[in-house]
Amino acid sequence: MDRNELYRDIIADVRTLLKARTHPRRRTIALSPEAAAWLQAIPGPSTVDTASAPAPAAPEPGPATLGKAPTAAPVDGPDDREAALAEAARRVSACTKCALCETRTQTVFSDGSPWARLAFVGEAPGADEDRQGTPFVGRAGQLLTDIITKGMRIHRSEVYICNVLKCRPPGNRDPQPEEIASCEPYLREQLRLVQPEVICALGSFAARFLTGLDLPLGRLRGSWREYEGIPVRVTYHPSYLLRNPSAKKQAWEDIQEIMRRLQLPIQG
Ligand code: SF4
Repeated sequence: MDRNELYRDIIADVRTLLKARTHPRRRTIALSPEAAAWLQAIPGPSTVDTASAPAPAAPEPGPATLGKAPTAAPVDGPDDREAALAEAARRVSACTKCALCETRTQTVFSDGSPWARLAFVGEAPGADEDRQGTPFVGRAGQLLTDIITKGMRIHRSEVYICNVLKCRPPGNRDPQPEEIASCEPYLREQLRLVQPEVICALGSFAARFLTGLDLPLGRLRGSWREYEGIPVRVTYHPSYLLRNPSAKKQAWEDIQEIMRRLQLPIQG
């Protein structure tokens, strides 16, 4: 293959990648670390010697990718959502709008990618999250991570994870209506900035908030709901699944529906 053919092939592959990953509302594309490394390994046209230069190694087949991994390539301009989310997180960290500010160790804003196609929304931080400042890091967080990485076979860093409340209710009690009312503008801002294609509501508080329906979780799951035009799938909170392992089968069915919607391969 001569130099021109090599670059035509590379450009065609990159164009295919860009088309597959771009979204009408998105100005950046998501690259897995493997794809980013592969692109970076391609020598520039001014230095390449096709007669002696080895072809760039293709990435090892790995898990499916979804949304932004650590590297995001600009497509048609800078994307300011990362800065806007950082600014929102800064405001949340100083928030005193409800009494939970008096008992928190720190606020818990989000984890994952600002460009995620899928957002998980839970209820509120627990003790581990309050200590570490990251949502879903305790036992329930490990189960959610397993659902994402072993079930969906994508990286946790590719989804967006947050809660309805940004501060831990003492003793992990249920969120109070006035706390939800005080905190909800932050969640709305997060979802408006991230613009996920699908939201997965984890547990009844997130489900009721996102769907606007005051129904038991059992009636909210099992069909597609909607938040501000974004499809919402309701499933059990990982904490509930730890206490009730028999519900994992239904939760997996919910996750598979999300995977179908996002056209992710379902294995097994
Ligand atoms: S829970 Fe929300 S509204 Fe209440 S203090 Fe924390 S960030 Fe502010």
